[in-house]
Amino acid sequence: MLRRIAIILLVLFVGGGVALLFHFNGHPTTVNLGEKSSIELPTAAHILIAIGLGASLVILAGMLRAVSGSFGRWRSRRRAKRAAAVDKIRQEGRHRLWAGDFQSAGKKLARAAEKEPQDLETHLALARSREELGDLEGAQKILEAARAQHGPHPQLLSRLGNLAMARGNAGAAIDALREAASAQTESPRLLSELMAALAAEGQYAEAADVARRRLALERQPARREQAKQDWLAVRYRSALAQNDPKKANDELKRLASEEPTFLPPLMELAARARADGDVRGADRLYRDALRRHPSGAVLERFQSLHAAAGEPARALGPLRNACGSSTSPGPRLLLARTLVAAGKLEAAEETLADLSRESTAKGRAGADIAPERDLVSGELALSRGNDREAAKLLLRAATARRTPFSYTCQDCRRTAREWIASCECGAYGSYDWSVNGTEKEAV
Ligand SMILES: [Zn+2]
Repeated sequence: MLRRIAIILLVLFVGGGVALLFHFNGHPTTVNLGEKSSIELPTAAHILIAIGLGASLVILAGMLRAVSGSFGRWRSRRRAKRAAAVDKIRQEGRHRLWAGDFQSAGKKLARAAEKEPQDLETHLALARSREELGDLEGAQKILEAARAQHGPHPQLLSRLGNLAMARGNAGAAIDALREAASAQTESPRLLSELMAALAAEGQYAEAADVARRRLALERQPARREQAKQDWLAVRYRSALAQNDPKKANDELKRLASEEPTFLPPLMELAARARADGDVRGADRLYRDALRRHPSGAVLERFQSLHAAAGEPARALGPLRNACGSSTSPGPRLLLARTLVAAGKLEAAEETLADLSRESTAKGRAGADIAPERDLVSGELALSRGNDREAAKLLLRAATARRTPFSYTCQDCRRTAREWIASCECGAYGSYDWSVNGTEKEAV
């Protein structure tokens, strides 16, 4: 109702206005449109035409704006729809990748990459699918094409570096990873990858520097410990690769004194002294190491040094000290063995009896010392001329679940008959006496 009244009032107002305009401006006026054409209308009509033309222009501009706005909205809706469709293909591709269906993942990701070539993540996933199918060359081509388009993106370079390593091209891996690490200086992961590539290429000096930088960046304790082990390992390898024996020895000594729990440098130095016939030098190294960090592996090497030199009794002092400071049965088993070798059979028997009593008292929770005990008891029986008993015990020791006085890698649980500096799993200094490990696991 109100609207109607408003419209009537508006019509009356406009009508009245027009009537007044014509009333006061009814006289004719000529407007020339050219040399020979002209229009003669009342002045009021001219005014109305001018107002009408102005209003039409305003309305036209408004309409044009509305049309272009709705066209823009339509275009962005279409773009969003297209992006959603590509995203769906990409997500399906990634899902297949996680599910291990690499063939189908590759097809979907290739389609997504074709439709949206500027998306780096899709290229990385596509390269991963090729890699999983064993097509390393194809994966590399995809990554290189992505690099040409996206430039030296750290994630891309890291993938290229790892791929080059997998293809056995450490040189290319170093180039890519070096570039990635210089673009993203705060990434411990990149530095770790670069360190591995440099070490694989024998460039230990730079590898050690990179390993040190990575150690400074690692925050999480377990990763920090791993970074430290890697740093020590690469420095150890660097010392071994040194052509000048004096420089090599100096570096090994520095490492051994810096980190007494990291055994490879000490074991290497002692082995070098032993190989040179320098029993006293090796003895000094072992004693020094045992004072700073009692270790089963060092004790065993120390005992073996003197046993091989025909003087097992020389090892007794440090062995007794180790027994006093350790709760592990390992040192006492070795002490008993050394006592047998030194002809101190009564003392050996006593030590063995103590160990048996303890392991019985501990029951099932005790360490499994059976192979070592059988071996030492067999050697004791042999020394006493009790051949039948010796044969029985030594056979039992030889056929036991594990080799007596053997070693286990603390990282991968591989075992070795003798202590070794590095494991097939890539760890350095990870081997520890199995008899110690058994007790640790049992407790
Ligand atoms: Zn291992």
